[in-house]
Amino acid sequence: MQKQILKVKGMHCAACASIIEKTLKKIAGVENVEVNYGNETTKISFDETKTSIAELSKKIERIGYSLIIPPSKNSSDGQQSQHKHDKMADLLDLKTKIYSVIPIAIFSIIMMTWDILAQYEIVPMMGEVSKTFVHHLFPILATYTLFVVGKPYLLGFYRFLRFGKANMDTLIGIGTTAAFLYSFVVTAFEGVLAQYINVEYMYYDVTIVVIAFISLGKYLEARSKIKTGDAIEKLLNLQAKTALVIRDGVEVEIAVDQVVHGDLIVIKPGMKIPVDGVITEGTSFVDESMVTGEPMPIKKSAEDKIVAGTINTTGTFVFKATKVGSETLLAQIIKMVEEAQGSKAPIQALADKISSVFVPIVLAIAFVTLAAWFAFGVGTIGFSRSLSYGLMSFVGILVIACPCALGLATPTAIIVGVGKGAKDGILIKDAATLEKLHKVDTVIVDKTGTITIGRPTLVDIENFSDMNDEEFISIIASLEKKSEHPIANAIVKYAEENKINFSEVSDFESMQGRGLKGRVGGREYFVGNTKLIRDLKIDFDFAAIEKFTLQGKTPVIVASSEKVLGFLMVADEIKTESKQAVADLHKLGIKVVMLTGDDEKTAKYIASLVGIDEVIAHVLPHDKLAKIKELQNGGAVVAMAGDGVNDAPALAQADVGIAMGTGTDVAIESAGITLLNGDISKLVKSIKLSKMTMLGIKQNLFWAFFYNIVGIPLAAGLFYPIFGWLLNPVFAGLAMAFSSVSVVSNSLRIKTKKL
Ligand code: ADP
Ligand code: MG
Repeated sequence: MQKQILKVKGMHCAACASIIEKTLKKIAGVENVEVNYGNETTKISFDETKTSIAELSKKIERIGYSLIIPPSKNSSDGQQSQHKHDKMADLLDLKTKIYSVIPIAIFSIIMMTWDILAQYEIVPMMGEVSKTFVHHLFPILATYTLFVVGKPYLLGFYRFLRFGKANMDTLIGIGTTAAFLYSFVVTAFEGVLAQYINVEYMYYDVTIVVIAFISLGKYLEARSKIKTGDAIEKLLNLQAKTALVIRDGVEVEIAVDQVVHGDLIVIKPGMKIPVDGVITEGTSFVDESMVTGEPMPIKKSAEDKIVAGTINTTGTFVFKATKVGSETLLAQIIKMVEEAQGSKAPIQALADKISSVFVPIVLAIAFVTLAAWFAFGVGTIGFSRSLSYGLMSFVGILVIACPCALGLATPTAIIVGVGKGAKDGILIKDAATLEKLHKVDTVIVDKTGTITIGRPTLVDIENFSDMNDEEFISIIASLEKKSEHPIANAIVKYAEENKINFSEVSDFESMQGRGLKGRVGGREYFVGNTKLIRDLKIDFDFAAIEKFTLQGKTPVIVASSEKVLGFLMVADEIKTESKQAVADLHKLGIKVVMLTGDDEKTAKYIASLVGIDEVIAHVLPHDKLAKIKELQNGGAVVAMAGDGVNDAPALAQADVGIAMGTGTDVAIESAGITLLNGDISKLVKSIKLSKMTMLGIKQNLFWAFFYNIVGIPLAAGLFYPIFGWLLNPVFAGLAMAFSSVSVVSNSLRIKTKKL
């Protein structure tokens, strides 16, 4: 089974997506297809033994589309640039057509307006000669417009007749052709028809103006749509083309895809980092802003990690390649953004459903309307007027009812939203996550590493054993050396800095959520929090540590199997942005809960400093999940921010899991949202981004629906018997063009808004 995201060529409307989907799904071997009109891609999984991309493409070619076949497996780059190239060519083609048709349309509008004004005697009637001239000119202009500029719509009409597949182009094609054919017949048989109908009414101008407006709308839409997807392009541009590697002792420049694991790569001032790796020698500041969103260049020296796509400032260094090609963080980011932009938000489901049945329904409405004009019109307003009003209604409905804006409403906003996030180091896994995030009313944060920096230091030593401080620390540090906890790092670091010796440890055991135990010099020791001591039922006056915990310090109590030997205190610094971020979350109406395995008093103190509403302390890792469930059962929509490594189950349980990476160390796949530099103010930004995007989508959907709901009855002439309103198809064309353009520009606005 193969799963691929492919670019699709030839999509003109939302209905196209459902046509392609249906056609591909019918092919043997195709498991699942999801077509996205927003970025013109299809996510397809198929059995490669039964079919191939080329074959799939062929199947949709006859109905006017094709798949862009990727040049090689691991590069979305080629597909991307080919697609872009095609898009630009299409755009240019549209542009030249626009240049020819707009003057024709303006001329038509002037003539139309003249006609109307002359009826009210505001301007003089046109002279006979001019009238005859215009009379003969219009058929020529309309023929050009319909058959040259309007070719895609004619093709849509043709495909409908031939394969029974109707998209938006079909509607426009039928509408404009109907107006043209009617007028053409009248022109050709004027003499004969004059006794039955008013041959003054001709609709060449409708054909011209509708096609002109719709083409203009399409052009503007296509131009803006290219802009919605430029985040991916910017990310792709971060990739270096070449790398300077040391091979056989000499520096050689090779293409970046030739770099292999373990290559030593030389980076000179101003150079782009080509792959991920670890510095082996040299020091420099590296600008990671484009990848992680971290604005300041970061100091990097031996053993520090660096990632592809970042830019060296002034130093020189050598690093060893650890991740190349599709393994690099940048490649993963690109893949994730691409997938997220192509995914569908649940809110889109309704719009999709509507657009897929829209075209046949609208066709039916148009025909029913035409019939109704005859049924009710002939007796009241006469045959000639019934025919001409019926025709206008028919064309007007077909033109105004296009579900174009409806199809663009959600995907364009998602594409812009996801792209904007990526620029800020906020990686969103899919559209559904982005949608869910705006409903979140409770945010759960970890203390260590989220609210605090996560690098505690040893600040107090209380030793009441019979050992001296050095022996005391040595035992603890030896045990802690086996642990990964940040507290352990603090103690080990202290011991190393004070040149304290480490001893042999046996029977080491980590006691989840509480601390650890092990043997040093034949004796058993326990090191951990108050819970550990309570669980061991060792006598201890906990008041002794209160003085420290009330200051936000974390206790590390040391005991033998019989008694407490002393304790250490570690303290972690609060991140500078924590307080502001909590305040910002409050402003958004979100409750902040801190979940921690740490001591309750310690946690409460820290919470009070940053304004956190609720503290749940002494939680064991597996209890985190239960606590989240508890909040959810109470009706809360929960986002959980964690480090993404230990907290995976809790992140999965939360409605939205937010993994906080620290700079270059991130597990992207683990959560719905990944914040590239572990900073809680980014969390606030993510929620704002989600709210902004959802608001954009709702505005788009409202206008798209509104306009179709109001437009169709208006065009059908439903208001004619009451108010005498009848929509000229020309205005339908204008409205239609305007609606798509306004939806795309509304989505683009998200890009410029401040988070
Ligand atoms: P958290 O990530 O919130 O600290 P943990 O479950 O990792 O949650 O740890 C819970 C508590 O257990 C810590 O706050 C600490 O008091 C204690 N603890 C865990 N590991 C150690 C350790 N290696 N040394 C001392 N105390 C520890
Ligand atoms: Mg932890």
